[in-house]
Amino acid sequence: MIQTDDMDFIPRVVTPENTGYDSDIEITLRPQTLHEYIGQDKVKENLAIYIQATKLRGEPLDHVLLYGPPGLGKTTLSAIIAHELGVNMRITTGPAIEKPGDLVSLLTSLSDNDVLFIDEIHRLSRAVEEILYPALEDRVIDIIIGKGPSARSIRMDLKPFTLIGATTRAGQLSAPLRDRFGVIQRLELYTKEQLTDIVRRSAMILDIPCTADGAGEIAGRSRGTPRIANRLLKRVRDFADVMGNGKIDKDIASIALNRLEVDELGLDSLDRRMLEMIIKGYGGGPVGLETLASAIGEEAVTIEDVCEPYLMQLGFLGRTPRGRCATKLAYEHLGFTYQP
Ligand code: ADP
Repeated sequence: MIQTDDMDFIPRVVTPENTGYDSDIEITLRPQTLHEYIGQDKVKENLAIYIQATKLRGEPLDHVLLYGPPGLGKTTLSAIIAHELGVNMRITTGPAIEKPGDLVSLLTSLSDNDVLFIDEIHRLSRAVEEILYPALEDRVIDIIIGKGPSARSIRMDLKPFTLIGATTRAGQLSAPLRDRFGVIQRLELYTKEQLTDIVRRSAMILDIPCTADGAGEIAGRSRGTPRIANRLLKRVRDFADVMGNGKIDKDIASIALNRLEVDELGLDSLDRRMLEMIIKGYGGGPVGLETLASAIGEEAVTIEDVCEPYLMQLGFLGRTPRGRCATKLAYEHLGFTYQP
């Protein structure tokens, strides 16, 4: 049961990160093949060619870096790559690899041509990164045996493998690490049409009756992000079951999402608070990120990673060297008069 004291910790319904509540359906809804993976056409086309070429040559795929905002399908795509290559994938995250020894045991446990997936790869420690460089470049690791003056380094060969790194912050990756990826692909926010297809596919898998309009309504409020689309579908289903006959149509989707305080463009109270602060508090901007964050009592990183990509895609927010500005479209959407 949810205690009122815990209310602050309840994640936003439109947060693009996995809140833990998503895990049950995410496994069921994950596409298994490139063909099933909706959108990201350029990335898919490139990967299909690289995968085919490496299969022809019987070599491991070059190391791949996938970057873009959370919830766009980086983990899903990595599992698809491993599946299409017919190899196993080991999954870990940057912060989980605490010591160089943790990485060594991961690398030595891989079979020929396996995929090692490291999420949040920008959070690897320096010492762990050092082990990774020769592993990626020459398929070897240097292990230090013993301590003090008698310590010596032993070089060990690794089996051929592919590292797939995922990050929301490619800019934070060190240059030497970035340079060791042969394939670097950026995932983009999805269009409303693509998200409608994703919602319809998910509804079919979960056996939820849903009209095309209903799926479109959910898609339009999902901030370009499949994870949010699937989560909203699940929430709207609750309303459809209790308030209607279980079928999701445009009306029930709209009622449900309004009740969840996700507006028709997918903005929630945090987005609105942020835009209102720029408009009312700073005359429309520019205002620096840190100043803005403390003015609304939110972390700068949340604003930067979670709110801004979508608000910029909508054309509601401009980023200038002097700070953030609200655009005419943002004024109009929030019902303010625009005075340049
Ligand atoms: P990321 O690793 O980028 O945070 P995930 O790969 O975990 O994102 O994707 C979140 C969920 O969104 C997945 O469980 C999957 O169901 C869904 N999803 C992501 N991309 C797609 C896609 N292209 N087509 C269909 N569903 C997708």
